Amino acid sequence: MPAFICTACGTQHAPSDAPPAECAICQEERQYVPPTGQSWTTLQSLAARHFNSFRQHEDGLIGIGTQPNFAIGQRALLVCTAAGNVLWDCIALLDAATVTLIRGLGGLQAIAISHPHFYTTMVEWSRAFDCPIHLHAADRAWIMRADPAIELWNGDTLPLLPGVTLIRGGGHFPGGAMLHWAAGAGGRGVLCSSDIATVTTDRKFLTFMRSYPNFIPLSAREVNGVAAALAPFGFDTIYGHYFDRVIASGAKEVLERSVARYLAAIAGTARRDE
Ligand SMILES: [Zn+2]
Ligand SMILES: [Zn+2]
Repeated sequence: MPAFICTACGTQHAPSDAPPAECAICQEERQYVPPTGQSWTTLQSLAARHFNSFRQHEDGLIGIGTQPNFAIGQRALLVCTAAGNVLWDCIALLDAATVTLIRGLGGLQAIAISHPHFYTTMVEWSRAFDCPIHLHAADRAWIMRADPAIELWNGDTLPLLPGVTLIRGGGHFPGGAMLHWAAGAGGRGVLCSSDIATVTTDRKFLTFMRSYPNFIPLSAREVNGVAAALAPFGFDTIYGHYFDRVIASGAKEVLERSVARYLAAIAGTARRDE
C-alpha cells in the first residue's frame, strides 16, 4: 500500500489503498487547501520529477531542499558533530542521491523536527538511516503516520547530543521547537529556529506567527514565551526555515529587537514616523 503525500504541505500519511479524503494539516487554520483542491503524490513519483539540492551554510551545517520547489518549500539542515549527525527538520523528498551522500558523511544519529509542517516523510528518513525521530509531545495529535521510531519528548529542553539541544519555544505550535548548536558559528553558537522564530524576508528581524499563510499573529504571552525559552542560550547566527532566511551575525541582539518590535506593534505603542 502506498503512503500518500499531500502535495500542498508535504505531509506523508499512513499507508492506504486510496488517497486520504483530506489532509488534516491543510484543513487546519495554520495551513490551507489550494484553490485547485487537495492532491496527493507518492515518494516514487515525487522522485521522478524532483531532486534534492545542498548548500553548505558553514562547516558542519548543510541545508537540503527540493528542486523544483515542492509543498511548502521546506528546507532541512544536516548538523554534523563529533558525536554524530542530526537531521534538523525534514523534507518530503528522500532520493537515492541524498541517502548516498548522507551515508557518506556518517549517516544520521537522530532526526529532530520543529513542528508538524516539517514532519513530511520523517518515517522514510528514519528507516533509511535507522535512527529515532524526536518530536515534542505537545504536537502529537498532528502525527499523520505513526511509527515506533518516533520518540516524544516533554518539557522545555532536550539534550540531544553533546552541544546539541532542543528548545521548546511554543507559539506557532504548542510543541514548537528550535535547535541550539553550541559549536556552530565558530563557537559563538547557532540557533536553527525554523518558523518558531521566523527570519523575515529582509533578514534583519525575526517574527512570530500562529499562521504565516493566513496571517494570524501570536499573543504577547506566546512571543514572550519564545524569548524566555531562548534566554539561557548564546548564539550569533540564526538559520530559519528556507535556504535564504539566515541572520549571519548578531542574532542574539536581532532577537531582542524583534521581540520588542513585535510587542510594540500588537500593543499599539509602535512609533511610526510616517
Ligand atoms: Zn496537507
Ligand atoms: Zn509552520
